[in-house]
Amino acid sequence: MKVFKFGGASVKDVKGVQNVINVLQKTDTSNAIIIVSAMGKITNALEQVVHNYLNQTTELKDSLDYIKNYHQGILRELFKNGRHPVFEKIEVFISDLETTLDRNKSTQYDYVYDQVVCYGELISTTIVSEYLLDQGYKNHWLDARDLIKTDNSYRDATVNWDKTQQNIIEKVSKIGLTVSQGFIASDPNNFTTTLGREGSDYSAGIFAYCIQAASVSIWKDVPGVLNGDPRVFKNVKLLSQISYEEAIELAFYGASVIHPKTLQPLQRKEIPLYVKSFINPENEGTSVKKGQRLIPFIPCYIVKKNQILLSLSSLDFSFIVEDNISELFNLFYNYQLKVDLIQNSAISFSVCLDDKFNTFDQLHTKLKAKFRVICEKNVSLFTIRHATDDAISLLERNKNILLKQSTKETYQMVVKQ
Ligand code: ADP
Ligand code: ASP
Ligand code: MG
Repeated sequence: MKVFKFGGASVKDVKGVQNVINVLQKTDTSNAIIIVSAMGKITNALEQVVHNYLNQTTELKDSLDYIKNYHQGILRELFKNGRHPVFEKIEVFISDLETTLDRNKSTQYDYVYDQVVCYGELISTTIVSEYLLDQGYKNHWLDARDLIKTDNSYRDATVNWDKTQQNIIEKVSKIGLTVSQGFIASDPNNFTTTLGREGSDYSAGIFAYCIQAASVSIWKDVPGVLNGDPRVFKNVKLLSQISYEEAIELAFYGASVIHPKTLQPLQRKEIPLYVKSFINPENEGTSVKKGQRLIPFIPCYIVKKNQILLSLSSLDFSFIVEDNISELFNLFYNYQLKVDLIQNSAISFSVCLDDKFNTFDQLHTKLKAKFRVICEKNVSLFTIRHATDDAISLLERNKNILLKQSTKETYQMVVKQ
């Protein structure tokens, strides 16, 4: 069995959904699980709904209408017969979403977020599944929330592998096509959870692990993994093969083409990952496998924007050592701040942080009571894997560098944006 993942960009419009058929035709898909994300930027639009709802703004209705109209526009083009059952299915999801908002009593942002944003994936997969059926591709639509079980850490849930594997083995047919959602799961009380933004790649990894898939292919708007994000770096080249370790490093430092959590389950069962272009599905793309040499062996560039550089020193010139450092990491963990880079000397300690959950300001207040704190917001963290002197000097040119650090394999610098 194979696992295919279609991201938001690949199904952002009518042509995108139709192109799913084109991709399937160019690959052997007799037995496959197809994981689909929300269409285009619908997750962002649903985040706006959550914002409008919790802040009781007057734009709530408009933001809901946007979601409705976006999908209805696509449906009308895909299914010229306006009485196709898919129209009603999507209407039911939209009215479920409205009922969820009406009945909700919670003000807990992360919980409400997950109960709302899941509709992006529920709707997109229903459209794709019905369209495939319409085009002669029999398939089963499954609700990923009945399969992937997690704890209740809303917006960043942790997978319960035993329960998930049991559900997937029991409910996913090994024969034929299954369509299910990326990104969404459920907690022990069956409330919806999500796996973190861009988490559909990870869902593909979870399904693949649980059914011991032959391979995972993720279909992207780029030819594969390049040695830099083409939106940021010029003259980037396709990496035709990389190892799991390399892919984990690249994804961890911020190469957003693969969600960082995707690799671990695949590596554990040595399931190959292919990153391919949905525009040219016949092209080879990038293969990620065990122990493969990086080909071509060239420097790889990564940038993570909108990070925070936090530098702490003790108020009384005492050392910042094990006890304070362990306390600090506990705080980062509790505030869900992701640490990208660490540098310390005897009396000072610097970290580059990703404030994904907007909790930094609360922590900042707390830290000021104990440390001398300098913080620089909106910095970029640049990383070069397999750096050469030329690559470093080119990247450093005309930049206001706040901090840099280099190991044998990895060069990093924090730069003012
Ligand atoms: P999806 O549609 O699956 O959500 P994403 O938009 O998350 O896909 O990922 C594809 C994007 O990742 C590309 O459009 C590209 O701009 C970006 N990207 C970042 N780093 C890389 C890289 N090293 N190689 C290729 N693409 C990259
Ligand atoms: N739809 C989700 C997001 O936009 C998950 C994903 O696309 O991978 O973050
Ligand atoms: Mg995405």
